Amino acid sequence: MRAVRFHGAGRPAVVEDVPSPRPGPGDVLIDVAAAGVCGTELHFLDGLLTPARAPITLGHEVAGVIAEVGDEVDDVAVGDRVAVHYLHACHRCRSCLAGDDHLCDAPLGFLAFATDGGFAEQVVVPASAAVRVPETLDLPSAATLCCSATTALHAVDVAAVRPGSTAVVYGTGGVGLALVQVLREVGARPVAVARNPHRLRLARKLGADVTVDGTGDVATAVREATGRAGADVVFDLVGTRETGAAALACLGKRGTLVYVGYSFDTVEINPLGLVVPEQRIVTSVGNRRSELVAALDLAARGRLQTTVTEHALDDGPRVLEELRAGRVVGRAVLRP
Ligand SMILES: [Zn+2]
Ligand SMILES: [Zn+2]
Repeated sequence: MRAVRFHGAGRPAVVEDVPSPRPGPGDVLIDVAAAGVCGTELHFLDGLLTPARAPITLGHEVAGVIAEVGDEVDDVAVGDRVAVHYLHACHRCRSCLAGDDHLCDAPLGFLAFATDGGFAEQVVVPASAAVRVPETLDLPSAATLCCSATTALHAVDVAAVRPGSTAVVYGTGGVGLALVQVLREVGARPVAVARNPHRLRLARKLGADVTVDGTGDVATAVREATGRAGADVVFDLVGTRETGAAALACLGKRGTLVYVGYSFDTVEINPLGLVVPEQRIVTSVGNRRSELVAALDLAARGRLQTTVTEHALDDGPRVLEELRAGRVVGRAVLRP
């Protein structure tokens, strides 16, 4: 079968033929319908994150149809339309039992990080990682929800966003556009920041109250939009030195800066600057399986829109470079 594979940092992704995977006990084999192209893939290619092995098939945002089930699988069946929770939690360890399966201590698999991902015609995952997709939701949209909207739901939970609060979404890629909508859903006032004017227009369409040009003075614009008070929450989805400094400058008293994005940069913090206004910095990584279920449900009820562009699987390497160049609006998916 065809697959888009990672061969090491600094080397381009390659389309190649690999053997089709076989489901073991407890596994399902999925015919991939669509797989989302995420900034995380670029982090692998750039060497910021290192998969457990190489070569490995990329793609951790996957939806498709179950083609075959292994032994001991009874909660899903052949023909089921499913989305995959990319970190295949054990559901038995200390973190899992505490409800934090996104921090699982002994994952059964981890798409594109440790096990072959979904930029392929088929993928094998544990049945427990397969979540049924509601009938009214198409599979390409479901694929993009596996990372963008679920990550947004988790970040809003981590930040404990309150109704009526002002929340800056710093960076409006796939996660940011979902975050704008999730913030609306919880009654907050989203302020979107981006360099790309198309993304800002889309953010406004999806519910951003204010949009701010990321090439300008972001902190001043946010102060103006909040009656000088500053934001209650800032989500930094970029994680550079520049956005880190601007994000802190946007933050109001008792405000929370949430790191979701990261880069090679380090960010300098002066404790005094945080202590006096009693601000805090928290981080949010990935998402729980339950948050994927919630995202699929929200989208099926029309409360969460996805912006999806579809591409052939063989175009994967080119689409990755389009994403790097900031030319993808919403989420691109690869379809085998
Ligand atoms: Zn992703
Ligand atoms: Zn676990």
